[in-house]
Amino acid sequence: MLLSKFLSGEISKLEPVYVADTGYQYPIIEKIVGDPKAVGDFLKQLADVGILKKELYDRTIYCPHCGSAKTSIHYNCPYCKSFDVEKSSLIEHVQCGYIDTEQHFRSGEKLICPRCHRELTKPDVDYSKAGIWCVCNSCGKSFDIPVPSHFCRNCQLTFTFEDASYEDVYRYTLSAEAGREASLSWIMVSPIRQFLEARGYKVETPGILRGKSGANHLFDVTASLKNEVNGTLVIDIATVTEDEVTEQPIIALFAKIYDVSPGCACLIAVPKTSENAKRMAKLYNIILFETRDPNEVISGLKTVCVKAVG
Ligand SMILES: [Zn+2]
Ligand SMILES: [Zn+2]
Ligand SMILES: [Zn+2]
Repeated sequence: MLLSKFLSGEISKLEPVYVADTGYQYPIIEKIVGDPKAVGDFLKQLADVGILKKELYDRTIYCPHCGSAKTSIHYNCPYCKSFDVEKSSLIEHVQCGYIDTEQHFRSGEKLICPRCHRELTKPDVDYSKAGIWCVCNSCGKSFDIPVPSHFCRNCQLTFTFEDASYEDVYRYTLSAEAGREASLSWIMVSPIRQFLEARGYKVETPGILRGKSGANHLFDVTASLKNEVNGTLVIDIATVTEDEVTEQPIIALFAKIYDVSPGCACLIAVPKTSENAKRMAKLYNIILFETRDPNEVISGLKTVCVKAVG
């Protein structure tokens, strides 16, 4: 479902949405996996196997006591630790070199130099900002760098960076390789599905069939008629971006059909397959299509396979 959202262009990147109490969420993924708690693992697995590419989006601070993401930053006095700190800008009068806080230059709407009493009008010419200056309202001391701490707006705990749980938040995109592979299958599967459904088949993409051994086997497409007599049609798709498909998918498909005994088994090799694979397909009674064009598969299904299935 997630791949089809990427491939159909419904989403181009998966970005987290910020929710005040709980922090970042991925609503699209929550809908797909059902359980909001499973979202993290789901995305991690897809990123680990290279289907999704992750990129750092933000970092979230969680309260070490209640786990809430509803936190703010306090800038504290380094002497008495109070956060009742007044912040102001430092201004330097370029002409006379006098530096003081903005309040000391303020005179109504105007900025007047307390030392030489000239008016400051042009920023960067008459005067320049020379950093910031803080005054503590609790102890009266001044400083330029406050000490930050975090405040939980949920349980009112004040905590330091040291105690905070600090977690990565990612933005995800479909990896180029997974996108190429999935879009080939996607382009193949949709028309085949439509073709079979129009002929009254019940189609699953992917579909799972239980074998004689009791094991379940996954196929890219399974199709069966309601009152099936001759079994099910199964299709696997093997894609390579360069060169040719090896005999490996033929062997894998044979192992599955040996257990499942479908009415008809097909392998679509995109774009082509090796001589060895062709020989094996023939030996194992697997119908092989070597093409990028789903219409070629459909006309093949019309003649060979659908007849065999019924
Ligand atoms: Zn808290
Ligand atoms: Zn203080
Ligand atoms: Zn001055």
